[in-house]
Amino acid sequence: MSKKAEDTPMMKQYREARESLEEDTLLFFRLGDFYEMFEKDAERGAALLGITLTKRHDMPMAGFPYHSADGYLTKLLKGGHKVAICEQLETPQTGKLVKRGITRILTPGTVLEDQQLDAGHNHFLLAVDFDKQGARASWLDLSTGKFVLAQSDRPHDFLSILSALAPREILVPEGMKKRVQNLDDGGLLVQELDRLFTGVTRTERPDFDFEHRSGAREVMESLGVMNLEGFGIGLDHLALGVAGALLIYAQDVLKGKPGNLRKIEEYRTGESLLLDPATQRNLEVFKTAAQTRKGSLLDAMDQTVTSAGSRLLENYLASPERDLVEIYRRQSCVGEFAQAPSAVEEVSSILKSGSDLERILGRLRNRLVRPRELGGLRSTIRGLPGVSRCLLALGERFPAIFEIAQRVQTFEELCAVLDRALEEELPADIKVDVKGEGGRVIRVGYDSEFDQLRELGSGGKRWILELEASEREKTGITNLKVKYNGAFGYFIEVTKANLHLVPAHYVRKQTMTNAERYYTEELRQKEKEIVNAEERAVAKEQELFLSVVELALQQADALTQTAHVLAEIDLFSSWGAIMRDRDYCMPEFVECSQELEIVQGRHPVVELVLKQESLGLAGTHAFVPNDCLLSSGQEQIALITGPNMAGKSTYIRQVALITLMAQVGCSVPATSCRLGLVDRIFSRVGAGDELARGNSTFMVEMNETANILNNCTSSSLIILDEIGRGTSTYDGLSIAWAVVEHLHGQGSDGPKTLFATHYHELTRLAHSLPRLRNFSVAVKEWNDEIIFVRQVTPGASGRSFGIQVARLAGLPDGVVNRAKQILSTLEQGDSAPLPTSDSPPADIQLVEDPKEPQSPSGEPLSSSKKEKKVKSEPSQLELF
Ligand code: ADP
Repeated sequence: MSKKAEDTPMMKQYREARESLEEDTLLFFRLGDFYEMFEKDAERGAALLGITLTKRHDMPMAGFPYHSADGYLTKLLKGGHKVAICEQLETPQTGKLVKRGITRILTPGTVLEDQQLDAGHNHFLLAVDFDKQGARASWLDLSTGKFVLAQSDRPHDFLSILSALAPREILVPEGMKKRVQNLDDGGLLVQELDRLFTGVTRTERPDFDFEHRSGAREVMESLGVMNLEGFGIGLDHLALGVAGALLIYAQDVLKGKPGNLRKIEEYRTGESLLLDPATQRNLEVFKTAAQTRKGSLLDAMDQTVTSAGSRLLENYLASPERDLVEIYRRQSCVGEFAQAPSAVEEVSSILKSGSDLERILGRLRNRLVRPRELGGLRSTIRGLPGVSRCLLALGERFPAIFEIAQRVQTFEELCAVLDRALEEELPADIKVDVKGEGGRVIRVGYDSEFDQLRELGSGGKRWILELEASEREKTGITNLKVKYNGAFGYFIEVTKANLHLVPAHYVRKQTMTNAERYYTEELRQKEKEIVNAEERAVAKEQELFLSVVELALQQADALTQTAHVLAEIDLFSSWGAIMRDRDYCMPEFVECSQELEIVQGRHPVVELVLKQESLGLAGTHAFVPNDCLLSSGQEQIALITGPNMAGKSTYIRQVALITLMAQVGCSVPATSCRLGLVDRIFSRVGAGDELARGNSTFMVEMNETANILNNCTSSSLIILDEIGRGTSTYDGLSIAWAVVEHLHGQGSDGPKTLFATHYHELTRLAHSLPRLRNFSVAVKEWNDEIIFVRQVTPGASGRSFGIQVARLAGLPDGVVNRAKQILSTLEQGDSAPLPTSDSPPADIQLVEDPKEPQSPSGEPLSSSKKEKKVKSEPSQLELF
């Protein structure tokens, strides 16, 4: 950069702002009507935003008009970047350096603006710290004011909620990584944290920001309280330091204290049904394996019409209940809404026309005050009497709905003020000066002084038009014009051809190529009056607008409560519609029971997909329902065998999903469902490929299995699919065998377990383990074809039908026929007990059998390496 540029006072101002920021934060520096980036920021910003990089005095620059900032900000924030805005803090005056300062830093976890928020998703800023004493976390959604803290001495339990939150930004103390790596079981924890942090903006903050005492002080100050007893939180709560770190950061970026925090909640791992991160992924609760929302349980259960309803659903799924009182409350509302379809329709059409009240209040309380926010607030509260009337009209037959309807406040007075004060169509911004953009905000008739000022301004303009007409007449200059521009104010313009007609009292102001511009004393006087009136009108409008905002904010707490009730109404009514339309049933909880009984259960997502397909395609089939009975004392383990593609995974997942849905308070896809409360659902399904993260598939599988065995209780539900598949047949079989024995061996009260496997040998366990039952997913054979019946029946499946499934998958006929030939050879030559027919032939017979199967080219199918390996493995007889 040239010396000259460095020396300008403006550049000094820029540098000061730049130096106050973290290295990775881009700085948008306001210069007149533009935001500019300089130097490294310009190079990075231009590349990220696809805008032109220019140079002035050798200094890289990139910029854009200020009114297009929203789009660029959205792009950067979505990409996980942070942006600081340095604004002009006063009206520019010629010859004087305008004062500038950073007014706001926008980061993915702290944005408040509508355009940059994902409507149906909470934007959590999360702070975490882990060490030998355990884990501490706090999360805050600044846009809604949700503020939670949590601590646990079992860090793994914690990962459940952290992963479900899907935070947008994470704060960690500088020294955390080292501390985590030194923990005894740091391996899986680091792995899961790594996953949690992937793709999320992560900011390291100094360790002292996480200090406990100052944290407690920050929390109390932000909530405006003297202690935290009212929230049931002691000042010794270990997570207060972490919560404080969040607040310090929020203040840094907002350039002021967050204004919408009124409550802090404690999340207790023991009060929720826990699903560890692997289980959330395996069950595709929030996202599918392909990382899409569509196809997830969340998506299948979301028929809400408001963003707040959608967010509530996400919250519920993130921490399913273990509190029966709360579950029953939700069930009653859902069940009643299912019986009142016309009310559901009416209420949702009203709710649809409202706006996101929670977030509007978040912005207003955090000093982002724009006319449209009030418009949104008004559109929502206009609907409140309708919602309340419609629900109360259902009467005594619907006590749960009646209770919820009573919590809807109607804010009629506030609504009347908003109606009287505000124009129907509101501009995005209110005018801040006479020349500024922004339309009308305050209605005529709301304030007489404002009306007079406005009248004077526009009346003044009328006077100008009259003046133009009379001057034309007096001077005989037919094209004489009275005009206005920002630099010169009002003037009379006469074209060169008519200059001889200009009267003597016109004073020349400016000479143009084709015209001369004049003023008169009368015009100057009037101009002063008009500008004065306009300026006063702008100021008055601002004042009135802010007083209306203030009026609304006086009721902000009550409005926030109503926003929550509306979100519940939206969610429960939409679940009522789902219960009715999809023929779900309401589960029945049996206290202190360890049983799970599902009659005619279905998979909530697969069933929907099949239904949608059958709308378009002939020949598609409907979902086949299946029962399930598990109890920790008797039918503790269900071992499910059957060919690939038979429906084993779908079945065991559907049992887990139904349990999860039940504890969220929703109805479930079954004819009936009875269960005792479950404390955790564990799953190990499929072989998730983790190679990109440097973990072998088998390692991940074993990590997850270890987690299950170490943490399950008699109230847990475990679903295991193809345990041991990631290693050699005998290794895998041995591990699967030992895992089943371990789960069964936990006294008479073991975790309820569904175990799907292709190791048919395991079915023999039923002889020695009294609480293990064999099931198979039925298939029929017809003309050497396999027909999937999708029915789970008692008893073990005889064969694995691997070759038939391979044919269905499109394996060439030659390969299929050759495989059949090999299989039949293997089966005929079977003197010793054989492992399953879908094990590779090389593992089985090729070692001992002199009539070794040959490949078409005459080569043995096994390699000598493999022979050695098989020989060194224990024989099956030894194993069983
Ligand atoms: P497996 O685990 O035995 O290999 P899956 O559970 O993956 O089999 O099921 C294979 C496919 O069969 C699924 O993608 C689904 O479309 C279909 N399917 C599974 N269960 C059912 C069912 N009960 N009714 C109808 N279709 C089913």
